[in-house]
Amino acid sequence: MSLQRFSYLAALFLFCLVSVMLLSYRYFFSLPAIETFITAYQNRELSTLKLALDKEMSFLSIINHDYAVWNDSYTFMQNSNEDFIIDNLQDDTFRSLKIDGIYFYDLNYQSHFAKGYDYKTRTSFKIPELDLISNPSNQNILPYRKKDHSGHVSGFITTSEGPMMFSSSMVRYSNQSDKDVGALLFIRKLRPNLFVTLAELSQLKLTASFISNANRNKHYLALKGSLQGEKVAKQRERILLDHMGKPIVLLTIEHNFSGVPKLINRDALLTLALLGLVCFSISLFVRYYLVEPASRGVRAINEMLLANKLVKLTAQRKFTEIKQLVNDFNLLVDKINQQKRMLEKLSLVDALTGISNRRAFDTTFELACQNAARSQSKVGLILCDIDYFKPYNDFYGHQKGDETLTAVAQGLAVTITRSTDLAARYGGEEFVVLLSHSSEDEIILIAEKIQIAIKTLAIVHQKSAVADHVTLSMGTALLNFNNKKTGQCKKHLLKQADEALYKAKKAGRNQVCHSFLATDVKIDSAE
Ligand code: GH3
Ligand code: MG
Ligand code: MG
Repeated sequence: MSLQRFSYLAALFLFCLVSVMLLSYRYFFSLPAIETFITAYQNRELSTLKLALDKEMSFLSIINHDYAVWNDSYTFMQNSNEDFIIDNLQDDTFRSLKIDGIYFYDLNYQSHFAKGYDYKTRTSFKIPELDLISNPSNQNILPYRKKDHSGHVSGFITTSEGPMMFSSSMVRYSNQSDKDVGALLFIRKLRPNLFVTLAELSQLKLTASFISNANRNKHYLALKGSLQGEKVAKQRERILLDHMGKPIVLLTIEHNFSGVPKLINRDALLTLALLGLVCFSISLFVRYYLVEPASRGVRAINEMLLANKLVKLTAQRKFTEIKQLVNDFNLLVDKINQQKRMLEKLSLVDALTGISNRRAFDTTFELACQNAARSQSKVGLILCDIDYFKPYNDFYGHQKGDETLTAVAQGLAVTITRSTDLAARYGGEEFVVLLSHSSEDEIILIAEKIQIAIKTLAIVHQKSAVADHVTLSMGTALLNFNNKKTGQCKKHLLKQADEALYKAKKAGRNQVCHSFLATDVKIDSAE
């Protein structure tokens, strides 16, 4: 797997891991905490709504109780004095108390006084359902059978005039000392205004609708001061029940909090997108600072391998480890190049004599010939062979022979001064001198120098038939590379030099035979 792909996969893995961690935290901790908070908040909203309704109801109850526990009411129940009605139960009374009906009943549910009056529209109306003798099911709107003996009942009642709020209290003497004489019932219509007030007090959006008979069987929850095992919701329905337990008003409540956020909502998506961006940026950084330098290094090393040439790398990023790696690699390159140069040198040097070997000669000869072909110059060769070297070896021993070979080679080498020329061991006790851009005169001169150098060595050779010291025979050749094929020229030049050497040997040894001259040059005779 490439480092690049690995960095992308690592970024993807990081993205998935952190996403799962974030979503898990949201699912297991964050959202439950939000749900708990909203549940508490919606509980409080319902409790506020219930309190607001109770407050409205208690206002009706208070004035109802005030009128019931009043000596004049008590007296009215006993003597039915018309003055009481004229003084206290006029239309203005309804308007000032904001009530729509006043009813007195005796203890047998017989109506003692009954008046329905819409204090808003100022019109009278009758409520047949409040004839408690013919509607016994409504008798429990009076507090006669109340077990708690509070002498008070309040609630809602369904009538042909619509749903109403009611409050009834036992009519008593103000010091509550006398016997019960009946009950006083106050009625107030349920108007939209009431629900507007409830909405304002509870800070909720509220819609109220009267429940028709058709919807009565539908299952609704009654309004209580809390949630009833329900979940958080934006909207919920509650009903108000009449004194018989029948639903009369449906309240549609809209809460202020819309509910628990979804696991993946806009915020979560935004967070994940940001996380993705961070992971992508990290992978880009890794690519820019690590992957690319590494790839560049690998490419550079591949190119070196292809070109078979090691060069130093440059560290473009400033990381310590990468710099160290590049430094170490460069040290290695230095070392390898050094060893390569040493090996090349060794491969071109003759191990015994220390001068260039046949391989070095072949390479240099090839280059010299190519140069000569380009510059149309001449290349010269001098082939040298030690005379009677076998007898020398046989007489003085192989080790001494080696020493002599080395001495002769060094003698030859010092006669070569130009960097383009070369003295090499050609094989056995034969040597070759290569002269680039040469001339006949130069060859003659160098050959003489060689003969003098060998003579100067004065290595005793008792088994030589031509002298008392080691001598050389030489064959020379010179060729102009003009308009000729290099390969053929080389062969030709070598052949000429070889033939000249053969001639020198045949002519008695210890002499030079120049292939470009008619005559051989005898060194000793030339002295
Ligand atoms: P000529 O005058 O005709 O050249 O006779 P020669 O004896 O020199 O020639 P020949 O070819 O018969 O013998 C060459 C000898 O050179 C044979 C071999 O023992 C000796 N020789 C070749 N290479 C080495 C070497 O590396 N070390 C030693 N000591 N002797 C060598
Ligand atoms: Mg030989
Ligand atoms: Mg020889």
